[in-house]
Amino acid sequence: MTTTPDATTRDATERDAADSLAAFPNKFVRSPEVRAYLDGNSLGRPTTASAEQLASFVSEQWGGRLIRGWDESWYELPLTLGDRLGRTVLGAAPGQTFVGDSTTVVLYKLIRAALNARPDRSEIIIDTGNFPTNRYVVEGIAAELGKTLRWIDPPLDAGITADHLRAVLTENTALIMISHVAYRSGYLADMPGITALAHDAGALVLWDLCHSAGVVETQLDEWGVDLAAGCTYKYLNGGPGSPAYGYVRQEHIESMTQPIQGWMGSSTPFEMGPGYLPHHGIRRFISGTPSIIGALAMQDMLGLIEQAGIPAIRAKSVALTEYALELTDELLVPLGVAVSSPRDSRERGSHVTIDHESFASVNAALWKQGIIPDFRRPHGIRLGLSPLSTTFAEVQLGIEAIHAELAN
Ligand SMILES: *Cc1c(COP(=O)(O)O)cnc(C)c1O
Repeated sequence: MTTTPDATTRDATERDAADSLAAFPNKFVRSPEVRAYLDGNSLGRPTTASAEQLASFVSEQWGGRLIRGWDESWYELPLTLGDRLGRTVLGAAPGQTFVGDSTTVVLYKLIRAALNARPDRSEIIIDTGNFPTNRYVVEGIAAELGKTLRWIDPPLDAGITADHLRAVLTENTALIMISHVAYRSGYLADMPGITALAHDAGALVLWDLCHSAGVVETQLDEWGVDLAAGCTYKYLNGGPGSPAYGYVRQEHIESMTQPIQGWMGSSTPFEMGPGYLPHHGIRRFISGTPSIIGALAMQDMLGLIEQAGIPAIRAKSVALTEYALELTDELLVPLGVAVSSPRDSRERGSHVTIDHESFASVNAALWKQGIIPDFRRPHGIRLGLSPLSTTFAEVQLGIEAIHAELAN
């Protein structure tokens, strides 16, 4: 918040030395060519454990067990891993979380399931600041089923609040689709408050956790959440294209149906029988054969998250984003850079977006130097700070490099 013109207080070295999670950055693969990785919220770094596990999986699990692997553990993995995600990062008791498909497909299934459960209601609430896939999927479903979209247009540097929702919620609202942490601004929405508000109006809520799971405290069971989905390649470090997860609250599972009726979610997958009947329990939300290889790396990251604990991870996340804002105020704001993320850490996830009209070329110049943030249209640089792998030194290097580019 305050500017610190003194170059010594600006220095990251002491902050890294005092970090209670200082042992963790070295548990990730760190290529010397990458000097600062500031995009762990688009694709997390691999853990060093994953580097070994992926190789041994081929020779030992796949190569050694072959088809027997399905009976031994793979068939149950979408649910056992779902339970572990529930325990470690989601605040969800067992039997409500599954792993599989891409986020886009899981969103499609859960939105359709929610609308099936509210057949007499015709409206879906979503915001223009939501991630493209979320908006596109909802648009497609609305066209398919003849539903109406109610759009909220949040400010560029914030997100959806209870007040926004009060203005559009009616007895016709079937579903609210909202991101826990907004992908551009980093705004952290009030999950318990908004969920309660929706329930007062008889609506369901589907929370997208892509930018929050693993870095922000999430208590799906306690906060009354109906449905949630998220990806595993951002802060859960599952690797490119690792499968997504979905959460369905216990009380909804047996009454909800999803539209992609596949054999792996049917009542008797191996009887190859004539008609589809959904399996009892959360398995009914699975469609086809799960990606076992894709689910390997996230398990190593979950191990690290379990060691560190979400409270310590969140504390480091807040310290990293506060530091990024301090440096931005000191070095970049005087050069015309605007902060497009919340200033209050209680309303912020683990990334900070800053805007300047020359950031498209600045970002390209940084990438050439091995400094890797993310560019977000129209002219934002997004600094994604993954608490277990990002050091304060990386934050300092990144922001000083942006300063140098702008200054010349
Ligand atoms: C990253 C992200 C996605 C990605 O969807 P995929 O199907 O995994 O490509 C979807 N929604 C949000 C909010 C995201 O941040």
